[in-house]
Amino acid sequence: MPPRVNLTHPDKVFFPRAKFTKGDLVRYYVEAAPCLLPHLRGRPVTLLRFPDGIRGGSFYEKNAPRFTPDWIKTFPVPRRHHEGNVEYIVINDAETLAWCANLAAIELHAFLHRVPRIDSPTAVAFDLDPGPGMDLLGCAAVAFQLKELLGRLGLEAWPKVTGSKGLQVYVPLNTPSSYEATGPFAHAVADLLERRHPDLVVTTMAKAARQRRIFIDWSQNAASKTTICAYSVRAKHEEPFVACPVSWEQLKKAKKAETLFFSPEQALRRIARLGDLFAPVLALKQKLPADFVRKVAAAAEPAGSLRAYRKKRDFQQTAEPAPGRVAASGKGKKERRFVVQKHAASHLHYDFRLEMGGTLKSWAVPKGLPTERGVKRSAFAVEDHPLNYLRFEGVIPQGQYGGGTVMVWDLGTYRVLKGSYGEGSLHLLLQGRKLKGEWHLFKIRSRDGKDVWLVARSGARMKPLTPRQEDSSVLTRRSMARIARDRDAAWNSRRR
Ligand code: MN
Repeated sequence: MPPRVNLTHPDKVFFPRAKFTKGDLVRYYVEAAPCLLPHLRGRPVTLLRFPDGIRGGSFYEKNAPRFTPDWIKTFPVPRRHHEGNVEYIVINDAETLAWCANLAAIELHAFLHRVPRIDSPTAVAFDLDPGPGMDLLGCAAVAFQLKELLGRLGLEAWPKVTGSKGLQVYVPLNTPSSYEATGPFAHAVADLLERRHPDLVVTTMAKAARQRRIFIDWSQNAASKTTICAYSVRAKHEEPFVACPVSWEQLKKAKKAETLFFSPEQALRRIARLGDLFAPVLALKQKLPADFVRKVAAAAEPAGSLRAYRKKRDFQQTAEPAPGRVAASGKGKKERRFVVQKHAASHLHYDFRLEMGGTLKSWAVPKGLPTERGVKRSAFAVEDHPLNYLRFEGVIPQGQYGGGTVMVWDLGTYRVLKGSYGEGSLHLLLQGRKLKGEWHLFKIRSRDGKDVWLVARSGARMKPLTPRQEDSSVLTRRSMARIARDRDAAWNSRRR
C-alpha cells in the first residue's frame, strides 16, 4: 500500500456475486497503476463512487471532497452556470489513485484534455453504444466502418471496450487542437456513417430510434464531457469488468460478445502480456484534416442552395444535421419524400418539406395543412433544408436559430399531379402516415407585392386526426412534451 494512504474497510464487499471487495479494488488499481497513470496524468477526473458497493447508492464526484489531503493535486475549473470553480482531482501518481480507490471510486471518468490546457483535447473519442437487440459485436462492426472512414482521412484509431455494453474508438491528436474543431469533426463523421449505413448506425439519442442499431455518440467531444478512462473498473454489471483497450485483430476475431469482457484479473494479465495497447493514443501525433466539415458538406451540396441553411446555424451548438451526402430518390422517379415537422419555436408551427432537386423545399405553415376543403392556409417559404433533415427530431438549443422542440409529425412520399415549383403551383398527392390525399400549394402576389404561398385541401375531405395522432411522432411515437423532456438533440445546451 502506498505509504500515505490508509486503507479502510478492505473487506467490504463491492461486487457481491463476484465476492470482489474494496481491498481487491485498491489492489487492482495499484497493480494497474504503471499502465493506467499515463492515461490519467494531467487530466481532471470525475469519480463515480459507490460507498456501499454496487448494490448501494452511487454518485458522481466532480469537486474534491472537503477532507481531501493537501498532497492530492487538484485543478480549478470555472463552473459554467454558476460562480466559482470546481476543484477537480488530478491523478498523477499511484498514491492518489489508491486514495481515490479507497473512497470507493470504482469508476474513473477523465476529460479529453490535460491541465492547464483545458480547451485543447488530446484525442477525438467516438462512443459506440448498442441499442436494444444489438451487442458489442454490432459495435465492433461499426467500429470497423469508422476505422475505414478515418483511414481514408489519413487518421489512425484505437478501440477499447468500455466494460459496460459498448466500445469506444479514440483518434489520437497530441497536437494543438480545440473542441471547436473536434466536436464538429466527430459530428460530421458520425453523420456520414449514419447516412451510409442507416440500417446499422444512428446518431440521435432517442431510444426508440436506436432499436437494432448502434448509437454513435459524437457529443463526448466537448470541454464539459468526461469518458471512462482506459483500465478503469466499471460498476455496470454484477461482476467487475475493466474498460480495456483491445487490438483490431482481437475485435475482428471475436465470435462472442462475452469474450470481450475482462475482469480486473484478466486485465492485469493482458497488461503483463501485451503491455499498454493504448500507448499510441498518448503518443501518436495526428492532425484533423483541414476544413473537414466544410469539405464533406460541400461535396454533397447541390448548387449551393443550402448556403442560407448553413449560414443560420452553428453546428457546434445545434444537433441539427450539417448538410451532407444523402441519396436522393432516383432521378425520374415519380415518388419523392416529404416530411412535416411540428416545431415549438417562439410560435408553434408546422414545417412542410418536399424533396426536390436534392434538397428539401420548405414552408412554415403556422396552422398546418388543412384537412377540410375550402380552407386555405398561409405557407411561408423558408430556406432549403438538407435531405438529412427528413428524420431530424429533438431539441434545438434556446438562443439558436429556431430554438425549441422539433417532432417528425408526418413522413411519407408525394407525387406532383400537376404544375411545378417554378410555376408556383403544385397539385400534390401525399402518401404519409397521417396526411393522405390531395393538396394544392400555390403562390400568389399579395397586395404589398410580396409572394405568398397558400395551401388548400383538394379532392375529398380527410378524416380529422385524433388528439393522440396530433401529438405523436411518426418516428418515435413521442409527444412534444416527451421530446422536450428527453432533450436528446440538445447535447450542446449542456444539460445537467
Ligand atoms: Mn420551423
